[in-house]
Amino acid sequence: TLILGIETSCDETAASVVRGGTEILSNVVASQIESHKRFGGVVPEIASRHHVEQVTYVVEEALNQAERTIEEIDAIAVTEGPGLVGALLIGVNAAKAIAFAHEKPLIGVHHIAGHIYANRLMKEMKFPLMSLVVSGGHTELVLMKDHGSYEVVGETRDDAAGEAYDKVARTLGLPYPGGPHIDRLAQEGKPVIKLPRAWLEEGSFDFSFSGLKSSVINTLHNAEQRGEQLDTKDLAASFQESVIDVLVTKTERAVSQFGAKQLLVAGGVAANKGLRERLHETFDDREDVELVIPPLSLCTDNAAMIAAAGTISFEQGKRSDYALNANPGLELR
Ligand code: ATP
Ligand code: MG
Ligand code: FE
Repeated sequence: TLILGIETSCDETAASVVRGGTEILSNVVASQIESHKRFGGVVPEIASRHHVEQVTYVVEEALNQAERTIEEIDAIAVTEGPGLVGALLIGVNAAKAIAFAHEKPLIGVHHIAGHIYANRLMKEMKFPLMSLVVSGGHTELVLMKDHGSYEVVGETRDDAAGEAYDKVARTLGLPYPGGPHIDRLAQEGKPVIKLPRAWLEEGSFDFSFSGLKSSVINTLHNAEQRGEQLDTKDLAASFQESVIDVLVTKTERAVSQFGAKQLLVAGGVAANKGLRERLHETFDDREDVELVIPPLSLCTDNAAMIAAAGTISFEQGKRSDYALNANPGLELR
């Protein structure tokens, strides 16, 4: 099967052609980061406008690079949610127009299912599996017992991991998106500043990062008031250590409790060097579970992951009709 994937949920306009759910024939991403940087975050109206300008070109480019015509495509998969409603609408409408004009099946895809399925572009899935989803808007542990089946066993009660990274980075005066900058600084610093870790109730797989974020901000302000100079690198390293401690400890517990044969890591924060290292240290020696982490380009938003998730829906006979709409609050199930 050849699936054309389209992704416009946030600030990347992306299209991709994937064969058999596992092989990337093209993966085109037009990033808008430069346009949003000076505002310190994604401006929804600007995102929508860019998607309108880019989407046709990006889809054409994906077909060209894959050396396929639209007639050879079996179905169009598109992110229907969650995300920014105006941004999602552009992709959904583009997909509907293409599907209608060329009489192709249309398949709505959950953005987080996409992030998880980025892993299938690397390794075949083995069930039951646990996925650690760490992105700009989500931090979840998702149990999958089969293709297309999702059980959220833990999630953040406030900020997502990526959101905490971006907010802390902003306080430190780093450019948007801040995650990669904190990651870089953390490699050069030492985790010597004491910061909290939110374990929550015993046995809980939920997360909370807003307390940690506030603690970093308070630590900075207190130092400023005392006229002290805090080492930004050490603060970044300490923040990162706290995030990773909680993420990896809870993930390890979830993997054991649910007998997962694989651990798939998904979302933009999966690009984090420190997190990747710690996951390798923790899981590489274990024979009962296989760790899979996609390369950086498949961790952040892209359309190959949407095509990969869409392939499973296609094979399971799931179709969307022309009433398909952008759904910013779409639940994973
Ligand atoms: P969602 O997928 O939840 O809808 P999103 O699509 O905006 O949100 P992604 O594109 O998956 O999120 O990831 C973007 C996030 O990943 C940003 O918060 C960014 O700071 C973070 N990020 C990217 N690289 C790194 C890194 N090396 N270390 C930490 N965070 C990172
Ligand atoms: Mg993004
Ligand atoms: Fe995303």
